[in-house]
Amino acid sequence: MDGAPIENGAVAVSGNRIADVGRFDDVKTRNAAETVDLGEQVLLPGLINAHCHLDYTCLRGKIPSQKSFTDWIRAINREKSELSPNDYLASINNGFEEAKRFGITAIANLTAFPELISQVQSPIRTWWFAELIDIRAPERANELVDSAIESLGRARPPSAPSGLAPHALFTASKDLFRRCEEIAQQKDILLTTHLAESREEMEMFRDASGPLYEFMQSIGRSRDDCGNETPLGLFLNLIGSGGSSNRWIVTHLNEVTESDFDLLKRSNSKFHVVHCPRSHNYFGHSPFAFDRLRSLSFNICLGTDSLASNEGLSLFAEMRTFQKNFTGISPEEIFQMVTVNPARALRYENALGQIRPGFGADFIAVPCSASTDIFEQILAFDGPVSWAMVDGQVYCDW
Ligand SMILES: [Zn+2]
Repeated sequence: MDGAPIENGAVAVSGNRIADVGRFDDVKTRNAAETVDLGEQVLLPGLINAHCHLDYTCLRGKIPSQKSFTDWIRAINREKSELSPNDYLASINNGFEEAKRFGITAIANLTAFPELISQVQSPIRTWWFAELIDIRAPERANELVDSAIESLGRARPPSAPSGLAPHALFTASKDLFRRCEEIAQQKDILLTTHLAESREEMEMFRDASGPLYEFMQSIGRSRDDCGNETPLGLFLNLIGSGGSSNRWIVTHLNEVTESDFDLLKRSNSKFHVVHCPRSHNYFGHSPFAFDRLRSLSFNICLGTDSLASNEGLSLFAEMRTFQKNFTGISPEEIFQMVTVNPARALRYENALGQIRPGFGADFIAVPCSASTDIFEQILAFDGPVSWAMVDGQVYCDW
């Protein structure tokens, strides 16, 4: 992802960094060291999953696609009520194993249980985001954030800087969003949230009606913020304009009105956007406005979301689904959405997502032949990866 693919290429790794990149003969001449020959494979930067909830790996196949987003929330709440902390721990660990098998070397993982983080040994680079919901106790927003920050501090290496995830506008209060922003600025950490995911969320905020609105009413959420603005309009008001918007990673953004696009054109806000193709299809959301967001220079990444709305954690499968939904986007550009773009969203654009001297030694190898376009072959890859390295350590070699 730093120039054209190099035929018969080689990479020299020193410690946990890339020391040299080029044609095999040149790299070999410049670096005396043990050589690993991966055969007829393409060496790629490790994939980066920009949005995921490993908490719910155990919910794969448990919730059939629902007609209504609100019904899905009810269904996942029912499933969650049966799970114990040990179930969640097993779920997170299984999720890491699956992500690893599919060549994911870095992950932005939201957890609703930051208190469990200290018990997890992540095998890949993990940005832990504490997912916060204060719908039942908005007066305790500050307390919630402070205790999440404490738990995040106990994450084990190789975890990357952590972040905060006020869950969504309909479950996290204004105070919670503001507190998260305040702490994120103080500690210089990242923020993420789910925004404008469903038609029901749009109806709730813009029109003060619909199933999500009624559900929120039934559980006692204040509806002061309903009936005027779109979700995106509310979010832009919350984060203010300018400077700090690029620490936000916004997931979904499926419901964007013409007036929202006007807002985006006028605003300086340049948050990062994550699209989750297979989860999107599962819910039957409105089409994702990829072209329009891209033409406004938004950095767009791909994520898997959780297995409560997806069948697996393969970013190769996400890329293929994206390609089916958006014909005309080159496979190379799609591949950027799981490498270069998420590295930028995570503020690691100078360390991950490319095979380049000085970058972190995170790679995967995928079989290839000279017969067809290399990026097409990458997108078509459908198996577990046979060789991978994270942070200079080979983590699988089958
Ligand atoms: Zn999500």
